[in-house]
Amino acid sequence: MRTSSKARAPHLIAAVPEAPRTAIDLETAGDTPILREYRAVKSDHPDAIVLARLGDFFEMFGGDAEIAAPVLGVQLTGRGFGAAGRLPMCGVPHQAVVQHIRKLLDAGQRVAIWDQVGEVVSGRLVRREVTRVLSPGMVVEAELLAPAAVSRCVALLASHGRVGVAAFDPNSQHLELFEVDGGLDSPVVADELARLDASELLVEDTTPIPAGLAALATVTPLAAAVFEPTRAEERVRRATGAVSLDGLGVSAVPLALRAAGAVLAYCERARVVISQDLLRIAIRPADGSMRLDAHTRTNLELFARLGERGTSLLQLLDATRTPMGTRLLRARLQEPLTDVSGITARLDSIEVLLADRDGRRHLRDALGGMRDLERLVARCVQRLATPRDLGAVRDACAALETTRRAAHAIVPSAEIAQAAERCLAPEGMGESLRALLCDDLPVHASDGGAIRPGADADLDQLRSAGSAARTYLAALEVGERERTGIRSLRVGYNRVFGYFIEVPNAQRDRVPDDYSRKQTLAGAERFVTPDLKEHETIVLHARERAIAREQELLAGAAARVAIAARALTDAAAAVATLDVAQALATIAEEERWVRPAIDESASLRIIGGRHPLVERTLGPGRFVPNDVTLDDNARIVVLTGPNMAGKSTYLRQTASIVLLAQIGSYVPADEATIGVCDRIFTRIGAHDDLSGGLSTFMVEMAETAAILRQATGRSLVILDEIGRGTSTYDGVSIAQAVVEYLHDAPQLNCRTLFATHFHELTVLAASLPRVRNARVEVVEDGTDITFLHRIVPGGADRSYGVHVAKLAGIPGGVLVRARQLLAALERARPLGGGGGDSDQLTLSISDPGPHPVMSELASLDVDGMTPIAALNKLSELRERAST
Ligand code: ADP
Repeated sequence: MRTSSKARAPHLIAAVPEAPRTAIDLETAGDTPILREYRAVKSDHPDAIVLARLGDFFEMFGGDAEIAAPVLGVQLTGRGFGAAGRLPMCGVPHQAVVQHIRKLLDAGQRVAIWDQVGEVVSGRLVRREVTRVLSPGMVVEAELLAPAAVSRCVALLASHGRVGVAAFDPNSQHLELFEVDGGLDSPVVADELARLDASELLVEDTTPIPAGLAALATVTPLAAAVFEPTRAEERVRRATGAVSLDGLGVSAVPLALRAAGAVLAYCERARVVISQDLLRIAIRPADGSMRLDAHTRTNLELFARLGERGTSLLQLLDATRTPMGTRLLRARLQEPLTDVSGITARLDSIEVLLADRDGRRHLRDALGGMRDLERLVARCVQRLATPRDLGAVRDACAALETTRRAAHAIVPSAEIAQAAERCLAPEGMGESLRALLCDDLPVHASDGGAIRPGADADLDQLRSAGSAARTYLAALEVGERERTGIRSLRVGYNRVFGYFIEVPNAQRDRVPDDYSRKQTLAGAERFVTPDLKEHETIVLHARERAIAREQELLAGAAARVAIAARALTDAAAAVATLDVAQALATIAEEERWVRPAIDESASLRIIGGRHPLVERTLGPGRFVPNDVTLDDNARIVVLTGPNMAGKSTYLRQTASIVLLAQIGSYVPADEATIGVCDRIFTRIGAHDDLSGGLSTFMVEMAETAAILRQATGRSLVILDEIGRGTSTYDGVSIAQAVVEYLHDAPQLNCRTLFATHFHELTVLAASLPRVRNARVEVVEDGTDITFLHRIVPGGADRSYGVHVAKLAGIPGGVLVRARQLLAALERARPLGGGGGDSDQLTLSISDPGPHPVMSELASLDVDGMTPIAALNKLSELRERAST
């Protein structure tokens, strides 16, 4: 890994890969000044890997080195301390430190950067400070952030059956406060953490953490004292600059306020600068948006799961041009609206953008010139901005202006008009950055060359002093060749020795007296002269001072951006709004989606609905559109049909259409009228909760129970194959009871799509007035079937299980036997009897059906039994029949 140790500060600790001796800890190691300081830092940050900047390397010692070396894939070396043993060490070059920090964070470690902050003076210990403590929720470094994602640090405080939540994004510095009923293990907390993309949770170190929470994000226990109310209030007051907290409305959420105190304390420790100009505290109202649970997120494929490829709804919708737009789109998907006016306002924007193709194209072009303004501002606030970041702010100021003009040119919706007004760079900011910065900018300020000539008189002077001396040095070679007569003499420069005059050995006797020897090479000698030295000092000194001046000017520019943070992030938010609107319009046009009509009714009517992702996968014209009607007369649709017919797709497409409509998007249908839903509940597919030790059936029942408890009359409930994970009798009974409950419970009676392969359930429509039957049309041709994927009224009369088994490639012999058994079973006991709306359900909760002995008798393989076995079975069955 390490190629050179030359640049390592030699007076500190020299690492030597050595034969393993007893590894010792920090305390036992010797007492060099640096180790003494290091120990102090380590004791302040015992839970972090401390990266100590020594020269050109970041080094780790002792236990930290032992943890980090394998994670980073670097060699574990050591420094010997005589008989005491060896102190383990490892290090990484400072240029590559970011990628190594990423690896440590990914491995769940916290990282403290102990960096050089003073000037490096030979022979003296450089001043070092902990400049950053990075943990999953406290990352502001551009290189470590995914542009499309937000990761929040969320403090949770549970007390007396309530949980206070303070969710903080250190980049945008939005702090959201709210409280929920329940404990830390409440599903509401888990759903909220998923919505918030929480990557780190701060909790009192005295609180036991439910396993479920620990699985969601890195948990960081903090001393209970940081959640203390008066301290928290003081912290919030200081951070906001408010004299009193009354105006913030935080008194309504006292637990969340205490959690906010913990977040702010944690920011201090992480050395994240809290800017009064940026910090925004919002109290989240209890309603106003739709809470999505983990199942619904997964079932509707909202987001790609970590490390998973393939499409998600977010990917499908993401025709945004800026990272701010992508993040807003994600946030909208996380939190669909429940108020008609909010949804309508968003839909209006799409409509005007669809009507004006040219206008939309201009807007898209303008947005394309915008970089991640929000994060650029954050980096200026954190004093991490590079010259190129400032250049990007400059370009964004220009792009804001073009975006504003493009937005104004469109006949605007209220939302677009408002965004266009806010799409404004602070007065003069773009011009002043343009005047200050060069067009092409260096990566680091220390490279020099970021400031435009003519922008600063001091800098110009330093630069011209340097360049005069450089001109002198350039001319020196010619002059010295003439003076000495050494034609192969050359003037050169290297970083270690500076400027020199090089003379090949063959000419050595012609070297004049005023040359003093500096370095001997294989074939040449290098010299300096007093004159050369003097000019060298001017050149180097001028360069050093010029760079210092450049850094000063850049820091000043970054500070001006930071002061204008509020205005710039407002503009960035406006950009995001415009970007999402144009993205949704673009997708609506490409995918031929329509504007849904949104109202307060409890109905749902979709004509020609499609599943957005399945349609995309199948390609144009291959997806069969379907209708849905759920109104006051028809609350529940029981959908029957064989496996693979398209039941689950139909259910998911309906939920996706509602969700899309409520984020304010057009929808994949010919027509849609949607009464706003307060929640969408989905229970689809069977899966084991292996880590939780629950069986498929248990998971299914727990999820169903949660829906029955939480749904309201305004919810949309999607249930797929309830009761599959248990025996047929249990399964049908439970499925029927669930439908009856959804139908009859006064607080429910909610819009429900219920898919099942138990065709026995179709009889429910006869007894429950608001239940309708639907089935997936299947064409049967002997032992073959074709799926039409068309949903039609009426119930299926059979399961076609054996047909599907054939499609799946089960061997012919097995199929023949299965058909025999099926026929025998159907003769032996009338389970369901044949379906159809008018048929009686012979199996119901009050009528448990034929005695199990009958079923067993019917399924006996008499031919395959010996006479003795048959007699035994007969006596066993007689015994059971008589009990
Ligand atoms: P089920 O839930 O009935 O077992 P699925 O909904 O999983 O069936 O659908 C099975 C497959 O059939 C899907 O993967 C899809 O490729 C196809 N399919 C489903 N619905 C449609 C449709 N409306 N149009 C075209 N293909 C469909």
